[in-house]
Amino acid sequence: MTLRTLESLGSLEGKRVIVRCDLNVPLKDGVITDDGRVRASLPTLKTLIEAGARVVVCSHLGRPDGAPDPQYSLEPVAKRLSELLDQPVAFASDTVGESARGAVAELGDGEVVVIENLRFNAGETAKDDDARRAFAGELAALGDALVSDGFGVVHRKQASVYELAEILPSAAGLLIATELDVLDRLTENPERPYTVVLGGSKVSDKLGVISHLLPRVDRILVGGGMLFTFLAAQGHAVASSLLEKDQLDTVRGYLTEAAERGVEIVLPTDVVVAESFSADAAHEIVAADAIEQSSFGASGIGLDIGPDTAAAFADAIRSSKTVFWNGPMGVFEFPAFAAGTKAVAQALTEVDGLGVVGGGDSAAAVRQLGFTDDQFGHISTGGGASLEFLEGKKLPGLEVLGWA
Ligand code: ADP
Ligand code: MG
Repeated sequence: MTLRTLESLGSLEGKRVIVRCDLNVPLKDGVITDDGRVRASLPTLKTLIEAGARVVVCSHLGRPDGAPDPQYSLEPVAKRLSELLDQPVAFASDTVGESARGAVAELGDGEVVVIENLRFNAGETAKDDDARRAFAGELAALGDALVSDGFGVVHRKQASVYELAEILPSAAGLLIATELDVLDRLTENPERPYTVVLGGSKVSDKLGVISHLLPRVDRILVGGGMLFTFLAAQGHAVASSLLEKDQLDTVRGYLTEAAERGVEIVLPTDVVVAESFSADAAHEIVAADAIEQSSFGASGIGLDIGPDTAAAFADAIRSSKTVFWNGPMGVFEFPAFAAGTKAVAQALTEVDGLGVVGGGDSAAAVRQLGFTDDQFGHISTGGGASLEFLEGKKLPGLEVLGWA
């Protein structure tokens, strides 16, 4: 619990400070469709600007193949950052080359440059320690200190996250500090009742979270694609809904453990079953134990929780003091199957306590459904990182900043 803070770096006036952000925003035709991660980076950047630092912002974007690829350029992000900071932001067309070195040399106190996508360099994500270390060395030449603030990548041992933090004096930024504070409140002495809402596509993605949180919570509400593996584990037919047969035993194990611990696992009583997996598919509401009795028989696909379930989940959420929600309740990308997700999101905004949204698709879902970030206690910027934290794993990008 000894994460090094910004203060530990001393006076930053006139110093070149590299800030490792997570500016991995969704882009469509070069336009940012959700700038949540840029906004989440602002508190740290503003603090550094006010302290008179020369700010060198770096990030990854998408998954380029270790070489420059214009569709993953950070240039649109630099523009958006400039608008949000309300001051000019320079952009370097490479990461550690002539353009970056030149732009950094020209920085005045309180000025900002964004250097090009870290993943245009194979060393950033190299498996080989020496290759990562060599790239981190090139990055280190651009700064006098590192502020690590890309919470979405702290579970990855990558050059800018790990090795760079070993080379330069380094500290955690304000976003990481906030994220950890919230995640800590979810694991250490949470206020009760404590409810976890799980959904998304696959139960196999969430096994670690379920087993780590099961001993800590009062109830788990199960929606999304994974609900069908739970229903099947209880002996119900689920027609053509998403089913992970190889997880049935594991899920039965969770049901038994929950019963022994007095943790309530709440499964849907009704679901929305569709004729096919498409936005305009015919659909109807059926009881959760009668999915095969829908008009679509054995080919029906469950794509959302039903209205009775949504209402029951909403009540359970609103009567809790701590709620962690990960995974949409249905295929929210299709408006006809977004009602369950919307009901859960709405209830979360009404929690008298701490309501947290974690997970990339869940965060995207609430914004797409018209909610704003400030309606929730917290929306985590790091899907994988927050889940791994809640699984109790050690995160290399935090350990290197003194977290134990
Ligand atoms: P997160 O990124 O928040 O952790 P996941 O990646 O686990 O969430 O899952 C998100 C996906 O789950 C969404 O794309 C959504 O369409 C899908 N999903 C939700 N319910 C179902 C369902 N009943 N069948 C298939 N996919 C589903
Ligand atoms: Mg996801």
